[in-house]
Amino acid sequence: MGKLFAVEIIYRGIFQKTLAKNITRGIVLAAHNDGKLGISFGRYGDSPERNGIPAKSFAIIADDEQTLEAGMAQYEPKQVDLTVVLDDTLCKGAESWAWYGLQPVHHALKPGSTLIVVSLQDARTLLKSIHRREEPYKLAVLKGVTSFSGMWVYKDDHTDVRVLGAIAKALQEVVSLKALEQFITEKLKSPVKVASAKLAYERFKTIEVKPGEGNPEELFKFALPDWTDMRQGVSIKGQPQGGPYADPITKEVGGFRPARNELFKKYSTRSERPVVNFSTCTKCTLCWLNCPDASFDVTPDKTYDANLETCCGCGVCEAVCPVKDCITMVNESQFTDNASQWEAYRKDKDAYLKWLEKTIESAEPLEKRAYGYRYRGQYKEQAEEALEIAQKG
Ligand code: SF4
Ligand code: SF4
Repeated sequence: MGKLFAVEIIYRGIFQKTLAKNITRGIVLAAHNDGKLGISFGRYGDSPERNGIPAKSFAIIADDEQTLEAGMAQYEPKQVDLTVVLDDTLCKGAESWAWYGLQPVHHALKPGSTLIVVSLQDARTLLKSIHRREEPYKLAVLKGVTSFSGMWVYKDDHTDVRVLGAIAKALQEVVSLKALEQFITEKLKSPVKVASAKLAYERFKTIEVKPGEGNPEELFKFALPDWTDMRQGVSIKGQPQGGPYADPITKEVGGFRPARNELFKKYSTRSERPVVNFSTCTKCTLCWLNCPDASFDVTPDKTYDANLETCCGCGVCEAVCPVKDCITMVNESQFTDNASQWEAYRKDKDAYLKWLEKTIESAEPLEKRAYGYRYRGQYKEQAEEALEIAQKG
């Protein structure tokens, strides 16, 4: 038996599906040029995907047919030689449709192997979000803006070939730079993309992450009932309604917080979160009515607080709120908890409003932040900008 390698790509469903597919397919086709065999596939359990849901794609590479067949007998690799994370907000952990609880992004990474994150942040900052583990690993940042596109449109900003260049450096046994250049030249027919891949290859560097380094947060997990614990027949436990709750300062009880399924937390689908200005809120109820995940709590003073344990970051509330800057979507990576914004506002209004102003200032304009395809030529403009940032390194 020859050697078998697995590369895993963690990406945001729909927005990065084509990107992830292009990368895993590129690994296989480039490895062919080195005389290796391979296959790329998406994680079955992540399909059908929903916007932003953490999902995985794999490339399996082997020296020979027999080894590849043995590797393919697994539903998905239990351990991988390299993990790539295509959106740095996923460093907080991935919770897909296909497993229970939150998984750290290095969940399947072999000890001593490399984790690559596409990000504008540095590796040490990312470690504040990436959970601790007992085994050491290497961490590399591929400098670049998060590349999002849609189901039918693709932003050709070279993220795919840049990631491939980094993989060629990190895992030379899987694909050599020469084989990668040949693949890009013959299949993608783009000398500029060859240059992008080479630049990423040359600039690639890692830091060593020691055992115990990283985010100390306990991962959200729970035990599934054993089949012998299950009741006879089909019965679905009814959901209680929820009810009023207390103001942290006056202790006055009021408002309404719907009861929510404690086990169904989907906040790792979020790459942005809403921040709310409770001082300018007119209590019009539109955010509460339109939130697809019923994530708003009606506070005891009848304003609306986005419950960040359940918010998936879709941005509908920002779009429907009629008051300027009352709800603003901001990048998720700057937050380390899901604490109530309204409680923070109630405890220290001035400090909250100052924090809010600063946070909103740092948010990019809506057309840049949005995942969607908004106008003709948008992706071309964004791709040029992304490339410029990547080239500066
Ligand atoms: S972003 Fe707004 S509308 Fe979307 S789930 Fe979160 S709170 Fe609800
Ligand atoms: S949509 Fe805006 S103004 Fe209306 S209740 Fe929600 S936060 Fe307040």
